[in-house]
Amino acid sequence: MNKVKRKPLVAANWKMNGDRALVEVFTNALNQKCFSGLDVVLCPPFPYLSLFNAETFSIGGQDISHLKNGAHTGDVSVAMLQEMNCKYVIVGHSERREHHGETNEIVAEKAHRAVSEGLIPIICVGESLEVRKEGFVERFITEQLQAVVSVMSADILQQCVIAYEPIWAIGSGETATPEQAQEVHAFIRGFLADYDEAMASRVRIIYGGSAKPSNATELFKQTDVDGGLIGGASLNTDDFIAICQAAI
Ligand code: PEP
Repeated sequence: MNKVKRKPLVAANWKMNGDRALVEVFTNALNQKCFSGLDVVLCPPFPYLSLFNAETFSIGGQDISHLKNGAHTGDVSVAMLQEMNCKYVIVGHSERREHHGETNEIVAEKAHRAVSEGLIPIICVGESLEVRKEGFVERFITEQLQAVVSVMSADILQQCVIAYEPIWAIGSGETATPEQAQEVHAFIRGFLADYDEAMASRVRIIYGGSAKPSNATELFKQTDVDGGLIGGASLNTDDFIAICQAAI
């Protein structure tokens, strides 16, 4: 496969955390930094999106509806996120899959809707500890990715970001080793290459799961790790900035 230089990306997933004060702290801290050669994305809860004044970073939603609009109480559309100046949206986070019953097909539809209406989806995949112990990591991730590739052309897919987030590493303090992360990232890229080599070499695959300043450098050094999706550590400006710097 031809080696293509990919621009690293670090995204903050605040989940249901933060407040107005934190928005201000982050806006001030990040706007004073220069992240040349790196895409930095903040994904706060929906109500705070319009409060950001982002100069050196982008903002994104944590989820969207797979539908365009209509009678879907509590849901948010791609168009709404775009009106709030979002460039990205997370789809298929394991917490959405687990707590809101999102299937591989729904996640694929969300990703497709996002990218076809102009947002960059960060598509999360990743296995539970049980699946890992049983030795089915590749099979599990193949099913998650298969649903996505079956609804998108290679041209569309190359605009997406894939986040490998082993569920056992999310919020647990237990991180995948750099070797474990690289192994799965290489598998994901290989899976995509079977579909289209040029697209696979361009797609950014980022890692998520208890990434922090102390392990980010080693994780981001791996050949197929193009940055990170950061949960807990993204609520602290110093930690998040240190993680961003590790990706440059
Ligand atoms: C996440 O949930 O996307 C995540 C990576 O969380 P944490 O960094 O807290 O493990």
